[in-house]
Amino acid sequence: MSRFLAGKYEALEAYTPGEQPRDKRYIKLNTNESPYPPAPSVAEAVSREAVEGLRLYCDPTAKRLKEKLAGLYQVEPENIFLSNGSDEALNFAFMAFGGAGVVFPDISYGFYGVFAQLHGLPYEQIPLKEDFTLDYRDYCHQNKMIVIANPNAPTGMSIPVEQIRQILKSNPDAVVVIDEAYVDFGGESCLPLIKDYDNLLVVRTFSKSRCLAGGRLGYAFAGRAIIADLEKLQYSTNPYNVNTLTQLLGAATVDEEAYYRQRCREIMDTRRRTKAALEALGFQVLPSQANFLFAKTEKMDGGALYRELKNRGILVRHFTAQRICQYNRITIGRPEEMDMLIQTLKEVLI
Ligand SMILES: *Cc1c(COP(=O)(O)O)cnc(C)c1O
Repeated sequence: MSRFLAGKYEALEAYTPGEQPRDKRYIKLNTNESPYPPAPSVAEAVSREAVEGLRLYCDPTAKRLKEKLAGLYQVEPENIFLSNGSDEALNFAFMAFGGAGVVFPDISYGFYGVFAQLHGLPYEQIPLKEDFTLDYRDYCHQNKMIVIANPNAPTGMSIPVEQIRQILKSNPDAVVVIDEAYVDFGGESCLPLIKDYDNLLVVRTFSKSRCLAGGRLGYAFAGRAIIADLEKLQYSTNPYNVNTLTQLLGAATVDEEAYYRQRCREIMDTRRRTKAALEALGFQVLPSQANFLFAKTEKMDGGALYRELKNRGILVRHFTAQRICQYNRITIGRPEEMDMLIQTLKEVLI
């Protein structure tokens, strides 16, 4: 820390992203990226001409990409906010709507607490039940900003849209953010509810199901007024938050919906087989509607298992928070990668 850092940031603990080691080739099951490449036509969207076009600033309204997304999801372009990864949309949401305080589960995406601290917002973390289910009644009548990842991370578990409707109804004067980063892997989207509730913000990303984590593209749906608020903050921060190349990649991705749906089906299939194989080895595995599994075994400490796997070239994600430190979060990779994982676990756990 330099002596110049503003005092209000002294105690801020930054988010720690999952490791992206370059020292050797790992089977990388630690940051929920897709094991599959983008559709072939997406690579072709970045032509020489497109690169030469970079001399100009990008379209700050991202008109073409918004229109494509609007067509796919049956909303108006005015219902869409675009961001540099969905983390940026979440950051603006905390900044814009968290003034009265923010409520989110104790076990969820670690960035929520960081955003609350960054903006000096009072926040409360409500414990999930013993079995990591979320009781929607805990979030009713709060009238503070509510943030729920659905499906949740790192558990992979989800709640039905009807329960989100109850949360929206009972918090009419606060924004309810539903982070649908993993919804394409078997969750139920609450997007249709934006027509009925002007306090709903649905945040999505191209990073997981759209195989584009490095492209940094997030999007969010809401009524026009919430979108206008987010854009006010975006234009006050960086009008060009989604660069030209990423806008092109995003538009090409929307045109390949069938390809991505197929990839999601494959990942769900691999998830089902991996869960069964882990259970056969004695793991307890939470039910997952996401592209990862959250699992623990009595046979080895969670942190020790993480290190054993890393030594053998397999990266998973371990969290040190007390409630979940016996678990590891395992991203669903290609079938052959999951076979390697199971084989390696057999060796580690004998
Ligand atoms: C991965 C993830 C995000 C953020 O992804 P971006 O790459 O910034 O789009 C947001 N929320 C949850 C719950 C995630 O797991």
